[in-house]
Amino acid sequence: MALIVQKYGGTSVGSVERIQAVADRVSKTIQIGNSVVVVVSAMGKTTDGLVKLAHDISKNPNRREMDMLLSTGEQVTIALLSMALQEIGQPAISMTGAQVGIVTEAHHSRARILHIETQRLKKHLNAGKVVVVAGFQGISSTEDLEITTLGRGGSDTSAVALAAALKADVCEIYTDVPGILTTDPRIVPEAQLMTEITSDEMLELASLGAKVLHPRAVEIARNYGVPLVVRSSWTDQPGTYVTSPQGRERELVNLELARPVDAIEFDLDQGKVSLLRIPDRPGVAARLFNEIADQDVDVDLIIQSIHEGNSNDIAFTVNMPILNRAEAVASAIAPALRNHVDADEAEVLVEKNTAKVSIAGAGMIGRPGVAAKMFQTLADAGVNIQMISTSEVKVSCVVDAEDCDRSISALCNAFEINSSHTAIVNTSPETPGVRGVALDMNQARLAIRQVADKPGMAAKLFGLLAEKNISIDMIIQSQRCRLVNGEARRDIAFTVAKIDAVNAQEKLTQVAREMGWGEVILDNDIAKVSIVGSGMVGHPGIAAKMFTALAAEKINIQMIATSEIKVSCVVSQNEGVKALQVIHAAFELAGNEKFVVPA
Ligand code: ADP
Ligand code: ASP
Ligand code: MG
Repeated sequence: MALIVQKYGGTSVGSVERIQAVADRVSKTIQIGNSVVVVVSAMGKTTDGLVKLAHDISKNPNRREMDMLLSTGEQVTIALLSMALQEIGQPAISMTGAQVGIVTEAHHSRARILHIETQRLKKHLNAGKVVVVAGFQGISSTEDLEITTLGRGGSDTSAVALAAALKADVCEIYTDVPGILTTDPRIVPEAQLMTEITSDEMLELASLGAKVLHPRAVEIARNYGVPLVVRSSWTDQPGTYVTSPQGRERELVNLELARPVDAIEFDLDQGKVSLLRIPDRPGVAARLFNEIADQDVDVDLIIQSIHEGNSNDIAFTVNMPILNRAEAVASAIAPALRNHVDADEAEVLVEKNTAKVSIAGAGMIGRPGVAAKMFQTLADAGVNIQMISTSEVKVSCVVDAEDCDRSISALCNAFEINSSHTAIVNTSPETPGVRGVALDMNQARLAIRQVADKPGMAAKLFGLLAEKNISIDMIIQSQRCRLVNGEARRDIAFTVAKIDAVNAQEKLTQVAREMGWGEVILDNDIAKVSIVGSGMVGHPGIAAKMFTALAAEKINIQMIATSEIKVSCVVSQNEGVKALQVIHAAFELAGNEKFVVPA
């Protein structure tokens, strides 16, 4: 007999008929000999309705009362589903997060789960009942009993956490699409269903805008090795499996606060090529990276950001043995990239001795303090950071090769890791280069002009934002350096969630003033499109293909940032949807069937 945790999202329990259909499915699962814990969301758009009510009363509702309010949505569903089960003769009992004992941090509106008491659940399961648990909620402690919520979309996280705590055989997420698709079928109806995806890939997709799974749910599944599948509530199709590496046994305490970093990695054999002052117009990145791919040069990290005077810098890293070839391509193409704005010619800079050092682990989501700690550790070791790349499972910094050893030992110390290893990426030739495409319209860009170029600057900036729990992504330091009062200065640009943008801008403007840096500029009018796939490594030309697809539509790329398994581009907001569509088509991810997501 298997123990199964099933989670049904808002649309799947959106009406009495749908709740009855869920009861039927649960009862069938029991009849073939399983025990079932069901986690449900609030019905339909109930949570949105509650948020609106609160804002009709207060501009800035008290967070405790907000959790009190929002947690009611799920409570309606658990009672109704239990009744529906009992009505068809299936014994069932509903439980709130507090009744189960889902203990979280005492942070209202975005609490992380610390542990789950399982005795009461097990007692009811052993008595032959289905236990119907309210998703998205918990309590701050068994003494205080303060109701907390986990953040929007958090019922997925409740379900996977329950599966981990109960050591369930599988966690099934039932939703309004047949599984995880190559992109959001509401934007690209020809998106195709995947039979499986790795948890690392799914972590990226979920964090880059694919809301089919809550990223923290994927994080728990990965860390605890919970078998996870996403399926349709309306059909019996098998859905999509999210595969996780065979995990070590982890303790079931501090579930979502498990050690965020489990490895320090490095790559000593890298060089960096930068092109300065290239024109800011569609097609430039495409041209450069196509030429590079034609030479079979495999590029590792790429960054691009726009700077004063409306010209761009692009920089990329490659393995040392092919640095010469990469440089030759860049130099050959540079004169052709004459900048019509200021008639300057692009300039090529090559740095031979660079190294990449990374912290890796699946516990960094929503914890900006982890990256900030890395930057601070490097600053304390006197190491200057040349390039930063962030992903959901890794933060990498390009540093001077000379500083590599020092960086590693400082990082091992700071994150209590015993040994470091060279970055190994294991991809088999069958791994698809691009697994999926995601669009995030809820990001904003902040740029700070003229930040002093010395160790400790990234630590200062991102440490400040981490204090406010603001996560950052796509951090890009300009390659071009200019002298202000005899001090080297660079621009830094990065993306943050729109809801954090004004807050971040205020905080940074204050520091910039104190430090004598330049302006802090906010742009809300952006969209971020990303491709994700663990087969990207060792396949030259994937980034070039993405840039080419955008160029063909005359979509200008404002920013580029990559990690080993993703490439993200910032484009203007009104081009976001088009950008997603053309990229999805370029990688031939579209199928013949069209998905219609039920209303
Ligand atoms: P639930 O209420 O069941 O939790 P959500 O609305 O949170 O459902 O998530 C399902 C939705 O996620 C789908 O309706 C779809 O529009 C969207 N989505 C975005 N990206 C993807 C993707 N790559 N695959 C499947 N669905 C996606
Ligand atoms: N009801 C909550 C929300 O709408 C949680 C969830 O559905 O996952 O965000
Ligand atoms: Mg959801």
